[in-house]
Amino acid sequence: MFRVPWQNDKGEVQVNRGFRIEMNSAIGPYKGGLRFHPTVNLGILKFLAFEQVFKNSLTTLPMGGGKGGSDFDPKGKSDNEVMRFCQSFMTELSRHIGPNTDVPAGDIGVGGREIGFLFGQYKRLRNEFTGVLTGKGLGWGGSLIRPEATDYGAVYFAAEMLETRDDSFDGKTCLVSGSGNVAQYTVEKVDHMGGKCVTLSDSSGFIYNEKGIDAEKLAFVMDLKNVRRGRISEYADKYKEAVFTPVDPKLDHNPLWDIKAECAFPSATQNEINGKDAANLVKNGVFVVSEGANMPSTPEAMDAFLDQGILYGPAKAANAGGVAVSGLEMSQNSERLAWTNEEVDQRLFGIMKSIHQTCHSVAEEYGTPGNYVNGANIGGFLKVADAMLDQGLV
Ligand code: NDP
Repeated sequence: MFRVPWQNDKGEVQVNRGFRIEMNSAIGPYKGGLRFHPTVNLGILKFLAFEQVFKNSLTTLPMGGGKGGSDFDPKGKSDNEVMRFCQSFMTELSRHIGPNTDVPAGDIGVGGREIGFLFGQYKRLRNEFTGVLTGKGLGWGGSLIRPEATDYGAVYFAAEMLETRDDSFDGKTCLVSGSGNVAQYTVEKVDHMGGKCVTLSDSSGFIYNEKGIDAEKLAFVMDLKNVRRGRISEYADKYKEAVFTPVDPKLDHNPLWDIKAECAFPSATQNEINGKDAANLVKNGVFVVSEGANMPSTPEAMDAFLDQGILYGPAKAANAGGVAVSGLEMSQNSERLAWTNEEVDQRLFGIMKSIHQTCHSVAEEYGTPGNYVNGANIGGFLKVADAMLDQGLV
């Protein structure tokens, strides 16, 4: 844990708190995202780092688990303020990370802009150009498909779950929360695979577009969120057929999860589906939940999904595509080569298929067929535990 002092555009001194949790390196260098959000604290980062250990193990790639970030809020800050913050954050973080030690990536509030500023400062401090971060720009060591990987992976995982019931995305209506990196490409991939996404959200509320969010509307969202950095309510100003519902803090549930659909992709943040939301989802016909966000379902929600026997893909399996392609970015950096779109996407698809297969077969082997939560936890744990035993008391 460390102090991050920086100056805002008015020349005033600001101080945030920075964190990096290095949880386990039994099967490879620590690996996991950086999150910049005012809610960040030690407890949240520890649970994320713990989950990351087993997620990374499931990918079949040699990566340990970690997580980090700051309570800094990039919302409403100028590019120069974000740059000064990132430079100060990396000045301390650089002492702890390295391409063979700990390789951070992006997460909430840390996208291409932030990774660029962080990488630039690392290079300046160390005088070396190495793959110390993933999620880099394509022109300077980034991998094709990395921005899309988490969400493409979550959709591939859902498709694999559907296939166990001889079903597909064809004609399915899908609910998506969030409107950041993960949510955006989920909408794109579901559209490609024959489904229709009807919702998106941010921390101020959600939009419902019954006709579906097609490629043109998604392009509007991407410009709104990634370039203009505006609020999702503007979607309903632009497309009159859509309805915006603001967040109501008095409600004990989220009305986004109370819409008729077959699939749900929570893609915003932790604990965004509570027990009541889960009951609403099932009541409205949702039988596929694939978690793009990390731990979006509370324990009550998880129990409800498992009790109802729906196809429930927990985050550490369903959203492992992001870190998997980060692992592929590390391989490309080590080779000093860049693979094509098709090659990375094909490898991602293969990894998601293998994660699904592991979860499915381990769940069966341990007496809980169809329980992807057990499959992911046990499957991820065994490899790490075996490696720790092999390496002795260290
Ligand atoms: P972004 O910052 O791009 O987007 C996050 C979205 O979620 C925004 O729409 C944001 O709205 C909303 N959100 C965040 N916090 C809250 C909150 N407390 N309440 C309501 N809405 C909130 O992040 P990502 O898309 O990268 O990440 C989304 C989720 O996916 C996270 O759980 C992350 O850990 C997980 N994930 C991401 C990976 C990646 O590769 N990026 C990899 C694996 C998992 P607002 O702007 O209003 O805050």
